[in-house]
Formats: sequence, C-alpha cells, structure tokens
Amino acid sequence: MSRSVLLFLSALLLTLSVAEAKVSVMLSDAEVANGQTMLLRLHADREEPRIERIYAAFDGKRYPFYRNRFAKGREFYALVPASYYAKPGARKLVVVYIEKGRKHYRSFPVELYEGDYETEKLRVAPSRAKISAKNRKRIARERREALRIYRTSTPKLYIKAPLDLPLKSKITSRFGNKRLFNGVLKSYHSGTDFRAKTGTPIHAVANGRVVLAKNRFFAGNSVIIDHGQGIYTCYYHLSRFRVKPGERVKRGEVIGLAGATGRVTGPHLHYSVRVNGVQVDPIQFTRTVDLLFQK
Ligand SMILES: [Zn+2]
Repeated sequence: MSRSVLLFLSALLLTLSVAEAKVSVMLSDAEVANGQTMLLRLHADREEPRIERIYAAFDGKRYPFYRNRFAKGREFYALVPASYYAKPGARKLVVVYIEKGRKHYRSFPVELYEGDYETEKLRVAPSRAKISAKNRKRIARERREALRIYRTSTPKLYIKAPLDLPLKSKITSRFGNKRLFNGVLKSYHSGTDFRAKTGTPIHAVANGRVVLAKNRFFAGNSVIIDHGQGIYTCYYHLSRFRVKPGERVKRGEVIGLAGATGRVTGPHLHYSVRVNGVQVDPIQFTRTVDLLFQK
C-alpha cells in the first residue's frame, strides 16, 4: 500500500539573479509500487519570466507537464506512472525546466517497491492453440488499435472534478494479480474487477470523449474514454452500449450496462486506466488525481 508521504522540496535557485521566479516542486510520494502513479506539481511564485518547457524523466521515459487549472497561481502538474514490469529498486526522478534560456534540474530519490499483489498460479496451459488463426489476427488488430489510441495525447484536459468510480460495488479482483505460468510471470490483472450483474448501469468516471465503443475478442463490448492529457479509462465486458465513438460524455453519465461479453466466466465490470501510455492501478490513480484538487 502506498504511504501518503508528502515530500515537499522547495529549493532556492542557485543563481544570484533576482529576476527568476521562485520555483517549488512537490512529489506526491517518494515510494511507489510497480503499477502506481506519482503526481508532480511545479509551482512558480509569479507569471514572468515564462517557464518555456517542463518535463519529468523517470525510469528512461519522459513525461510532460501541463498547467494545473485547479490550483491557485501558476502551477503545472505531471502524472508519472511506474510500469508494472519495472524492477524494484532505487530510482531518480528528475524534473527539468527552462527559464530565460537556462536549464534547471530538480532531482527526487524514489524507491520503487514491489506491490503486494496476489498470485494466481495457472495449472493448465492457456489454450492458445484453441484460438483460430482468424481470431489471432483479430486480437493483433485490436491490440494495435488500442495502442494507437493510448499513444495519442489530447492537449486539452476534460476532467473538471475528482474521478468517480464506474459503479458502487464490491471489488472482486484487484489490479496487479500476478498470473504465473510454471513459476514465470506471464501476465497480470490489468484492471480492477467490480461485481456487477448483467444490466447494471456503468458510469463515466469523469468528463471526456468516447474514442472506442465496440466488441473486441477478449474485452467484449468495450468503451474507452479519452479524458485528455494522456488519461484514458476503459470499461469492458458490457452487455449494452449507451454511447458512440466521438461522443462527449459527462462525469456520472451512463455509458453502458454491465455484462459478460468477451472472454469471461461471468458478468462483472473490468475497469482499467492508462496514463501516458502506461497501464496503472485504477484505484490508486483515482486517489492520485484527487491530489490535483487539493489547495
Ligand atoms: Zn478484470
């Protein structure tokens, strides 16, 4: 479980120039499990001089900053996910920004630890052989289509309020359950499963735009919502759609009804989240986004 340690680093600029803004950078958590998301907030005490470019570098990838419209004054935020497959150990999270043509660096030590995920041991081989050549092609096509979506980042943020949950129900399978085959990690549970009878209304967790609403091989009837700035939420195994691709949705709006379509053993909702291309724990992500709204 993530400790809600707030690490506040407010370093004075090393330069003697008084014309530069005082910049403080805050990291939500100095300890992160694989599959969790960190929030960075960069606050400048005045509008000028302009900060031309800000990004965070973590575990070999760069993450963009965006203006935080929910904060007072001049603030920027970045969501930095730790991949589920990232190896545990000490990391450095570096924030880079350019002010008056000068590059500034802030460095945070981050401890990446292995989440306390449960293990599901598979006794029988996944029946890959039973999937026809035609279906394998379909699966590959659907995977490419999804990755194309997740690689796109809409500059505008649609989110206006803390994230809701897609329904009020018991969680039956948490994100991150390890699926071991002969002791080797083959896959993991990439979302959160909620108990939901067929026909249960499923709600959008935030404002956004529907980018996919179709039947897919594994996920069944699937809805993907783009919330902007690299944030996507996904709702799988639906029995009915209540939205179409391209449609704008509001937080709380019914987007479909729960069901048992796709590769499932019974009706439930599989809810998942992608941020900056990385699949993350939806429940921990919801709590992380809450921090954006804290003054
Ligand atoms: Zn699931």
